[in-house]
Amino acid sequence: MLVLEKCSHLGGTTGIAVGSLTAAGTRFQHAKGITDNPAEHDQDAGKFAAPEIESRNNESLRKWFLAEAAETVDWLEGLGLSFYGPSPEPPNRVPRMHNVVPSSRAYIEALAATSRAAGSNILCQASVVELLKESDRITGVRAEVQGQTRDFQASLGVVLAGGDYANSPELISRHKGTGYAAIEGINTHSTGEGHHLAESVGAKLLNMDITYGPELRFVPPTEKSWTENVPRNQPVRRLLAMAANRLPGWIMRPLVKRLVVTWQHPEDAMFADGAILINARGERFCNEKSWPDRELAVAQQPDKVSYLLLDGRLIERYSAWPHFISTAPDIAYAYVADYLRLRKDVAVKSDGLEGLARARAMDPEVLQETTESFNRYLRGECDDEFGRRGDSHTLERGPWVLLGPAKAYFTTTEGGAAITEQFQVLDHAGQPIKGLYAVGQNGLGGMILWGHGLHIAWAMTSGRMVGQVLADLVE
Ligand SMILES: Cc1cc2nc3c(=O)[nH]c(=O)nc-3n(C[C@H](O)[C@H](O)[C@H](O)COP(=O)(O)OP(=O)(O)OC[C@H]3O[C@@H](n4cnc5c(N)ncnc54)[C@H](O)[C@@H]3O)c2cc1C
Repeated sequence: MLVLEKCSHLGGTTGIAVGSLTAAGTRFQHAKGITDNPAEHDQDAGKFAAPEIESRNNESLRKWFLAEAAETVDWLEGLGLSFYGPSPEPPNRVPRMHNVVPSSRAYIEALAATSRAAGSNILCQASVVELLKESDRITGVRAEVQGQTRDFQASLGVVLAGGDYANSPELISRHKGTGYAAIEGINTHSTGEGHHLAESVGAKLLNMDITYGPELRFVPPTEKSWTENVPRNQPVRRLLAMAANRLPGWIMRPLVKRLVVTWQHPEDAMFADGAILINARGERFCNEKSWPDRELAVAQQPDKVSYLLLDGRLIERYSAWPHFISTAPDIAYAYVADYLRLRKDVAVKSDGLEGLARARAMDPEVLQETTESFNRYLRGECDDEFGRRGDSHTLERGPWVLLGPAKAYFTTTEGGAAITEQFQVLDHAGQPIKGLYAVGQNGLGGMILWGHGLHIAWAMTSGRMVGQVLADLVE
């Protein structure tokens, strides 16, 4: 097998993910006495997206995939990976979320090691730019490998596994609308080449306008997380999983807090409770309660960044359950003090507005006028200039906290090539394009995989199974 990776190292979105994998009927569930089955998992998976999105799901493909997911967990364990859980995530009726330990980088390392041990050649800085075709068959790829153009012939088939297009303004604006083009993908390398390659040979792409997000998220930390410094070899992974599964939650939670302040998004409830968003000049610019207009407006601000302003009342409120800033459900909850301690790059506190403004290089007078103008609406003296309604608490009591920079991001995209259950890519007439396969975000086949853990479950399941499909061609 030849793996071509455009970046200088393996990883992709999988490597920066939280690492949760959702599956029904797993060994981990049995060990905790949880009875579960894929049919019920499919029913619950359908409750995450709004009805108008869920109605576009490829029901038969998702049902089929979910019936394979538990075997994927066994297979990954067999490759030396370890999991914590399962954790609950409503509306799943039973706990189904399995979190890889210590982090999702472990998937990459275990898969790369297994693949190399089986004789695969992995080339980094090797970007596939074209699919090679002879008559009606895909026969190989053309790639830019460390500055040189090279052709590679495929004896069994070409598998597209190039991830999503959350950071492709071209695909996003073509399928979702030009207004969304300024919104970035969390993974800057998610530029949709796999989708372009599939399209170039006539593949049918499905659900390309459906995206996970946009959502407001804090910019990533510049410091490495502790999980990245933990050795990820097999004995350490096993030990960590054993500890994670046996230690009581009150010991585990502080350890995983950093995870919750890294990529999780600030809860909408903060705006419902009276927080405002300001830009780098200290000005308000949108109705903070209106999604996705809020995210679209954030992407139009200087440097595309925004900040949440909290006064003394909001700081007190967001310091204890049930009012948290962000969460990884059932794993941990992060409050104001957690951000001030763990994310000094995105959280600053001051007794006065002036100190806060200076800490983020804003004009204190502008910030003062922003809060006064908002308070005039709160006191009923005028309408809110951005159409906000239903707020009652003025912003006037210190101390103050500014959370940000936060940007509007697409987490991932839900569009992919139409495929068969053998992962063959289909054309517009519903016919397989010979020699071409797609997995992960390239081969979503019209499935809606909202909720935590289904995208990785699909990436791993489709990757495992396409290997079997191609191996069967040899026999
Ligand atoms: C912050 C974050 C957290 C997430 N957490 C979770 C989670 O916990 N659970 C979950 O289920 N989902 C999660 N997701 C989504 C999930 O991680 C992804 O959908 C999934 O991992 C995608 O896997 P993939 O193999 O399709 O793509 P990727 O993992 O992105 O791999 C694609 C690879 O192809 C390479 N590539 C692209 N184009 C080319 C080219 N032309 N030539 C050569 N190489 C190319 C890329 O560089 C990349 O390495 C998360 C997403 C984000 C952004």
